Amino acid sequence: MKLTNPSELKAVIERHGFSFTKSLGQNFLIDENILNKIIEGSGIDKGWGALEIGPGAGTLTRELAANADKAVAIEIDKKLIPLLSDTLSEFDNVEVINEDVMKVDLKSLIAEKFGDMPVAVVANLPYYITTPIIMGFLENKVPVKSLTVMIQKEVAERMVASPGGKDYGALSAAVQFYTEPKLVCRAEPHCFMPQPKVASVVIRLEVLEKPRIEVKDPKFMFAVIKSAFGQRRKTLVNALSKSPYINIGKDLIIEVLEALGIDPNIRGEKLGLEEFAKISDLLEERHNDK
Ligand code: SAM
Repeated sequence: MKLTNPSELKAVIERHGFSFTKSLGQNFLIDENILNKIIEGSGIDKGWGALEIGPGAGTLTRELAANADKAVAIEIDKKLIPLLSDTLSEFDNVEVINEDVMKVDLKSLIAEKFGDMPVAVVANLPYYITTPIIMGFLENKVPVKSLTVMIQKEVAERMVASPGGKDYGALSAAVQFYTEPKLVCRAEPHCFMPQPKVASVVIRLEVLEKPRIEVKDPKFMFAVIKSAFGQRRKTLVNALSKSPYINIGKDLIIEVLEALGIDPNIRGEKLGLEEFAKISDLLEERHNDK
């Protein structure tokens, strides 16, 4: 069975009377070359567990089952469950869970299904919830070694962007705090059925053993980062003092930035993670002293 072959995929879909739901981001992969690159890029092997979000017709799931020790796939659309039992019938090391990934306790699921195995997330993600899914894994410290995911090209560009560029923002800072991101390959709309409107990219996020920089309170640092990027055209001091995410007076903000040798009139997008860590550590320290 080769589900990257459009006529085979169509035949399976018709056999099960399945119809695509656009709002669930259902764009199934039909490019063998890209499929191989995802598997290769993910680094999964025997001894590994693979967790997939949104198996669709099972195209990627079949390769995960063939290459890893065990595959678990979470699919929200109950119409796909009988279809998946058909396309995955030759594998006894794969389990499909009919749930909304946003409602699953991923830590418990991983402990229950994979035990001590190293686990990699490998998925062609539904685009309407790409960022919440990825940030959910990272912020909640779900124990996975890496995430190799197909996402919208623009989102991938933001994840790998460096300070100062137009794509750099809160998402770049967050992804780079927790992971080493690396672009794997690009996938044009014709690689999917039906075709999405935008180009896609496979990105591999290697989860760091410990976050890239030391900061006392990462949550507060991300509130500072969100404030700095929330109003891009504002100077740093104005963005921070008018932020809905932190409640710190303008005088203290100026005092802290000057103590760190950072120009209060700079724009937030020029600052890297190290500077945000220093700002948030000192802001918290001086705020608590008052
Ligand atoms: N993996 C398949 C492939 O590459 O051909 C399908 C990928 S398709 C882009 C995204 C899949 O995610 C669809 O099967 C969709 O039904 C599923 N999905 C959408 N929202 C979901 C959610 N909240 N939880 C779990 N799966 C979801």
